[in-house]
Amino acid sequence: MPRRALLTLDRIVRSSAPAQALALAVLVLVALVLPVRAHAKTILAPDLCHAESPVPAPAATRARAFTCSREPAAGYQNGTLWLRIPASAIPPSARHEPSLLVHYSRFDRLDVTFTYADGRKVVRSVRNGAFGHAWRIGGQLLFDPPARDAPLSAITLQFTRLASIDMLRIRVLDRGTAAIQSTALGLCIGAALMLLLVGTVYNASLAGSLRRQYPLWQAGWAGAMLAWGAIWAQAHLLIAPRLAGTFSAQTCSAIACLAITFAAFSAITAPGEAATPRLARRIVLTMATACSLLGIPTAFLRSGPVDAAAAMIGFLLIATMLGVAVCLVWAWRRGSQEARDFATAWALPIVILSSADMIGSNVGLWGAGPQLLVVLAAAWQTLWLAAAASRLHARLHLEHAQAQRGEAQARELARRDVLTGLRNRRGFTEDIEPALAAVNAGEGKAALLLLDVDHFKRVNDRHGHDAGDSVLQSVARVIATFEAADCVPARLGGEEFALLIHGERAATAPAIAEALRRAIAAYPHGDIIAHQPVTVSIGLSRARAGRAFRDLYRDADQALYQAKHAGRDRVVPFASENSPAKEAPVPA
Ligand code: GH3
Ligand code: MG
Ligand code: MG
Repeated sequence: MPRRALLTLDRIVRSSAPAQALALAVLVLVALVLPVRAHAKTILAPDLCHAESPVPAPAATRARAFTCSREPAAGYQNGTLWLRIPASAIPPSARHEPSLLVHYSRFDRLDVTFTYADGRKVVRSVRNGAFGHAWRIGGQLLFDPPARDAPLSAITLQFTRLASIDMLRIRVLDRGTAAIQSTALGLCIGAALMLLLVGTVYNASLAGSLRRQYPLWQAGWAGAMLAWGAIWAQAHLLIAPRLAGTFSAQTCSAIACLAITFAAFSAITAPGEAATPRLARRIVLTMATACSLLGIPTAFLRSGPVDAAAAMIGFLLIATMLGVAVCLVWAWRRGSQEARDFATAWALPIVILSSADMIGSNVGLWGAGPQLLVVLAAAWQTLWLAAAASRLHARLHLEHAQAQRGEAQARELARRDVLTGLRNRRGFTEDIEPALAAVNAGEGKAALLLLDVDHFKRVNDRHGHDAGDSVLQSVARVIATFEAADCVPARLGGEEFALLIHGERAATAPAIAEALRRAIAAYPHGDIIAHQPVTVSIGLSRARAGRAFRDLYRDADQALYQAKHAGRDRVVPFASENSPAKEAPVPA
C-alpha cells in the first residue's frame, strides 16, 4: 500500500476522537451481532448424543448405545467417538439437500454417515493428511451428499482419535446458504490475509528507512499472523494437500506462540530504551521468548506433559501481556509517541477478542468464530501501526530535511561576507581550490585580480562610516556582475576584493581587470561620486604549477602595491623578480 494511502488512513483514524469511537462501535457491533445471528445454526458437539470406545474402531462399525446425559468418557481421544445429529437439529431447509460443515481438524479420521428416512445411508470419509475435496477455506470441512427425495433422519459422525470434543463446531445448512457463507468467509479471510501481507512487507521496509528495530519485529508479527491465518484457513492445502489435519493445526499453535513473542518484542522495543526500566524490559522479553521456546515444541506433542506445558504457556502468556501493558503505559506517561501508537493499535483488537471470548469460542462468524476475529484484528493492528509508523517516518524525514537545510544555510552564511554578500576569504579559498588544483596538475590556467579601493579612508573620514559601507556595497555589486562559472569574486577584507579567473578566460585576465576597473570608476556610487571619484587599483598575478594560493596572493599584492605606488586607479600585472613590473596603460 502506498505511503500516502497509509498516511490518509492515519489521518482519518487520528483526526477526531468521534471517528475513532464510531469505528470502534461499528466493529464491536459487527463482532457481537454476527456470532449471535449465526448462533442458531451452530451445533455444540458436547450437546450431541454420543457413544465412545477406548480403541480405534473400523470405519463401518456401528456405535453401540448412544447416551445424551453425560460428557463422553475420557479415553475417546485415543479411541473412537460417535456423535449423532438428530433430525430435530437439522434445519427443514437442509433435510433434502444438506451440507454438513465441521470446523475442526484435529483427528485421525472422520466418517460421516447420512441416514435417510427410507433407510438409505450415504457415507463420506476424510483422513488426517487426506481431506480430498472436503476442505474449504476458513478451516472447515464440507460434506455434501447427493440431493435425495427422502429427507434426512440423522447424521452420525465417527471420529478416530479426536483431540477435543470441546473445540468441535458442527453446522448443518442447506446447500445454498453453505455456498454463500463459504464465499463470504473466503472473501473476508482473503482480504484480511492480503492486508497482513501488505503490513508485513510495509513494516519490513519501514525498518530500513526508520533505522529502528521495532518495525522488523512488527513485520515478524504480521508475517507470523499471515502464516497462522493462511494455515488455519487451510489456504496452504491448495499447494500441499497432504498437510491437512493435525499437523496443520499443530503448526498453527506453534506459529501463534511465535507471533506472541514477536508482538511482545515489537511493543517493548518501540518506545526506545530510555522510556522503560531496563529490568522490566528484560523480564518481559525473557517471558516472551520462553513462550516460543516452550510453546513451539509443545504444539507438536500428542502425549506426555502436554497439560502441564499448556498451563505454563498460559501463565507465561498472561504475564507477558501484562508486562507489555505495564511497559507501554509507563512509556506513554513518559511521553513516548510509539507507546501511544501501540496502545491505541492494540485497543480495538483486545476489545473485540475479549468480547468474542465472552460470547464463547464455539459460535459465530459463519462457523469461523474467534479465529477469523483474530486474523481481522491482527490485520487492523498491523495497518494501524504501519500508519502510525509512517507518520513518525514522515515527521523524522521532515525534521531531517529541515536540519539539513539549516545546516546548509549556516555553512553558506559562514562562507559569505555579511556586508556585501560576496564570498569571504574562506568561501573564496574553498571555491577556487579545484581551479588551482587543475593548474597544479598542469591542466589549466588561472589568474588572480586583487582590488583595493583608492583612498577609501577619505570616504570614511569625509562622509562617515555608513557612506563607506555603501561604497563597499556598490563596488561589490559591480564586481558581482563579473561572476561566472570561470570568474569567482570575493571580498577578502576591509576594502580589498578579489576575482579569480580560470580556464580559457584566464588568458584575457588583463582585459577583464581593465574592464572591471573602468566599470567601478564609472559606477554611480550614490551622492559621493559627485564629490569624490571611487576608483580601484588592481594587482594581477598568474597561477603556476607547484605554487600555493598564498604565493599567488603575495604576487598579486605586490603588483597592487606597485599600482598604488604608481598613482592608483590602474591595473598592474605582477612581474617576476627577473623582469621589472610592467604597468598596464592607464586610460585617458
Ligand atoms: P589606499 O588608496 O592606499 O588603499 O588608501 P586607503 O585609505 O584606502 O587605505 P587604508 O588602508 O589607509 O584605509 C582603509 C580604510 O578602510 C581603513 C578602514 O577604516 C576602512 N575600512 C575597512 N573596513 C571597512 C568597512 O567595513 N566599512 C567601512 N566603512 N570602512 C572600512
Ligand atoms: Mg587596503
Ligand atoms: Mg585602499
